[in-house]
Amino acid sequence: MSKEEKKVSSLEKELFYVPEYPADKNADLMEQACAFCEGYKAFLNTGKTEREAAEAGAAMLMQAGYEPYSPDVTYQPGDKVYFINRQKALIAATIGTAPLDEGFHLNIAHIDSPRLDLKPVPLYEKSHFSLLKTHYYGGLRKYQWPTIPLAIHGVFCKADGETVKVCIGEAEDDPVFCITDLLPHLSKEQNDRKLSDGIRGEELNVLIGSAAVDDPDVKEAVKLNAMVLLHQKYGIVERDFARAEIEIVPAFRARDVGLDRSMIGAYGQDDRVDAYPALQAEIACKAPHFTTVCVLTDKEETGSEGVTGMQSSYVFHFLQQLCQSQHADPIRALQNSKCLSADVTAAYDPSWDSAYEPMNGTYAGRGIAVFKYTGAAGKSMTSDANAELVGYVTRLCDAAGVAWQIGEMGRVDLGGGGTIAKFVARHDIDTLDIGVPVLSMHSPFEVTHKLDILMAYKTFLAFNEAEQ
Ligand code: MN
Ligand code: MN
Repeated sequence: MSKEEKKVSSLEKELFYVPEYPADKNADLMEQACAFCEGYKAFLNTGKTEREAAEAGAAMLMQAGYEPYSPDVTYQPGDKVYFINRQKALIAATIGTAPLDEGFHLNIAHIDSPRLDLKPVPLYEKSHFSLLKTHYYGGLRKYQWPTIPLAIHGVFCKADGETVKVCIGEAEDDPVFCITDLLPHLSKEQNDRKLSDGIRGEELNVLIGSAAVDDPDVKEAVKLNAMVLLHQKYGIVERDFARAEIEIVPAFRARDVGLDRSMIGAYGQDDRVDAYPALQAEIACKAPHFTTVCVLTDKEETGSEGVTGMQSSYVFHFLQQLCQSQHADPIRALQNSKCLSADVTAAYDPSWDSAYEPMNGTYAGRGIAVFKYTGAAGKSMTSDANAELVGYVTRLCDAAGVAWQIGEMGRVDLGGGGTIAKFVARHDIDTLDIGVPVLSMHSPFEVTHKLDILMAYKTFLAFNEAEQ
């Protein structure tokens, strides 16, 4: 090699960005990632709905010594508090050494996931089966939900004021439920439908029974039998479906994926794959400079509307009240705050590569993925973070040895999507989208890479521990 050639090759190394898969060269790192993900899998299995995830998160916080937040207390640096919004969203905070006027460091992920909700009058009988009518929640692909085992989760708020929890299909010996589909032998007409129309909303009916009460005078003996069983177990009557939130979710548990166990397959990883690392990073941060706030919010999948979503003021009320009790100026605190909008990105999928733009894809195994903007059709409906903020966060990542990548969801004009970032940015808070890439996003079995999950944790921790 001539001198000239040497110089050029070192220039290449110096000037080009070459994507890497850090786990390939570092077995210890992968071991760390696998260890971290054991807790994550347990979290997935105990928190399949936003209520269950909020409860599981709160239990982790209490275990770690967090106290219920009170607006009447003046907190000291290092104090840890938590707040549950209507059983479905969670806020945890650690008071920093800096005055709150210097701003908060917020990590916000969401714990609601696409699923099937029961309609308010769901139970019916047809051809000696009992079934439940559903209304899908979030952007799911309906054809993916038939012929898989399903579980029933949720709450009934009964006439007498008592709230009973329901969870059927998770214990090893529990029955499960399902949505049926046509056999290929009779699907000629269905096969001619468009994929988006392959299974229609009114065809997402959950099979829950086929036994009847033994009484010839009862007109709907199968439906009555189902109601009798529910009444025996939960004390509910049919009218109680009206005051309930019952969610149908896949019945299977989180599993390792791959011969090498490098990945995780599970329902609801969007966005618990960011929620769990964010919460762990909040717990692990003991004496931050800035006050850290971890929010696990609800309703992201339906546009962040509603009192437990990020378009509600609940997070900002919490921040304002915290400022009041600490004698800080809430406006200045918001202006100086920074937020990581921690949500999943689309992982580049080799079987569907025409949907992506390879140079700007985010890849499973390359680390946490930064999205400067999300949105659709010419960057509409996105907050589009400032380059300065991207610089700030990625410098923190570099300093902490975090593998990060940056990209877009897929090909321009193929689709798109949004996150909670814009609902935070509108409060004058610098906000950046960042999260774990996911294969088969919004499906009953989403796939993530363990290395990326560890990197998410390290990112959130570095952000929490930032000194400036
Ligand atoms: Mn999401
Ligand atoms: Mn989503």
